[in-house]
Amino acid sequence: MAESVGERLGRIVGDRHVLSGEDIPEHYRVDVLGKFSGRPAWVAKPGGTGEVAAIVRLAREEHLPVTVIGGQSGTAGGAVPSDGGLGLSLERMNRIVEIDTLSMTMTVEAGCILQLAQEAAEEQGAFLPLDLGSRGSAVIGGVIGTNAGGNRVVRWGMMRDMVIGLEAVLADGTVVSSLTKMLKDNAGYHWKHLLIGSEGTLGIVTKAVLRLRPLPTTRQTALIATDSFEQMIAVLRRLEVSLSGQLSSFELMWDDFYRLHTEAQLGQRPRPMPCGHAIYALVEAMGGNEELDAELFTGALAQLMEEGLVTDAVIAQSARERDALWAVREDLQPGLAPLRPFVAYDVSMAIADMPAFVASARKALLEAWPEATVMFYGHAGDGNLHAVVSIGRMDEEVQRGFDEAVFGAVREVGGSISAEHGVGVERAPYLGWTRSESELALMRTLKRAIDPDGILNPGKLLGVV
Ligand SMILES: Cc1cc2nc3c(=O)[nH]c(=O)nc-3n(C[C@H](O)[C@H](O)[C@H](O)COP(=O)(O)OP(=O)(O)OC[C@H]3O[C@@H](n4cnc5c(N)ncnc54)[C@H](O)[C@@H]3O)c2cc1C
Repeated sequence: MAESVGERLGRIVGDRHVLSGEDIPEHYRVDVLGKFSGRPAWVAKPGGTGEVAAIVRLAREEHLPVTVIGGQSGTAGGAVPSDGGLGLSLERMNRIVEIDTLSMTMTVEAGCILQLAQEAAEEQGAFLPLDLGSRGSAVIGGVIGTNAGGNRVVRWGMMRDMVIGLEAVLADGTVVSSLTKMLKDNAGYHWKHLLIGSEGTLGIVTKAVLRLRPLPTTRQTALIATDSFEQMIAVLRRLEVSLSGQLSSFELMWDDFYRLHTEAQLGQRPRPMPCGHAIYALVEAMGGNEELDAELFTGALAQLMEEGLVTDAVIAQSARERDALWAVREDLQPGLAPLRPFVAYDVSMAIADMPAFVASARKALLEAWPEATVMFYGHAGDGNLHAVVSIGRMDEEVQRGFDEAVFGAVREVGGSISAEHGVGVERAPYLGWTRSESELALMRTLKRAIDPDGILNPGKLLGVV
């Protein structure tokens, strides 16, 4: 009798690493917000690249869709397996293979949680700068699959800037590997860049060589406020120079965001400064001179206040105070819980276009729903803005109305519909709003060439190809 798919999977990874049907726990099937869910026939947990390749060959033979399930922290439904398909969890492939403090690289398996990779680097006196609110659940394969950015892009760039070498399994089971530690290599196409940000639709990342940086030993953090967005960006540009390259985070918060979250957090911590300023920024500098860095930071902010560019500033005097300032930006649950159901967007645009986007999106949303709560915040480094919209109820029509208002405002300024969570299933219908027909055609051509049977995460990113 022919072996079943489940039996063949069991032979590849071991029976205890295969789950099927009703036995598949929810966290493999449902995204972080509980908005998207799938009913995969199997979830397999391979222990190494060879096993991933064998599973992909099997999936190809059986015409089974394969979705890699990372930390499930993306909210666009990209990691939700297809009904009747195969979910791959790389959670057993979580080793830090090597930290090379001479080349300043880290070789790591794709299932390693980002925070564990950060901590392992730190133990060796090195620094993996990528940092996001989801650091405790997002995995290396997921942050590569979505080209994650986060809090420190302004200084060290996003994931694309940190991936030096990559190993991946292609749709026919070929292992393609360039686990190099070389920073510069101009010999031919850099295929890794096709896979970075491709949301598991072109290949399955199994290992990566990541660029490390010297570990900063000082950290200065402040919350600042200005009277206008333009002044805040002038402050950003001034600090990039006056902090001698130490500026590491510049997180923007519009007054509506600051007001709502600091109010909701009052039970845990006092509001660091009054509401009513036009815009706030959480500013952080990281350096290496214990004696001079604090003085440099305080002096730079004092100068900006003297000139009237910064209207208020609170500088953290201890690690506890620093955590309290970061909590304004990251401890969002108390503020967001009463807004459920809400929709959160992660869009991007040139920094200069942010005020036009905010004004246009806010106008469109409030004209349609005068009662709506609308908030904006984001990372200035990557031009990445979040909009949170809630009217206290949700259905398909409301969702479509929100999407059209926000993505329409993005389109007006030539921005992008996705800057963090990927396109997934949620934004696939809107990809053409900010990508031209010729770009979409090229994307489809690439997808068909690399995955002719369409088994890798079908329906995600490009929709039906
Ligand atoms: C609180 C919070 C804060 C966040 N902050 C940021 C932020 O500041 N910046 C930012 O960019 N994002 C942010 N995100 C979004 C999210 O964390 C990132 O998109 C993250 O990179 C997803 O990683 P993950 O492991 O959870 O991937 P998942 O959500 O599991 O998967 C995302 C996509 O990657 C694919 N994938 C996963 N593993 C692989 C692999 N091995 N090979 C190929 N494809 C793979 C999946 O199939 C899916 O399409 C945040 C999310 C939350 C919940």
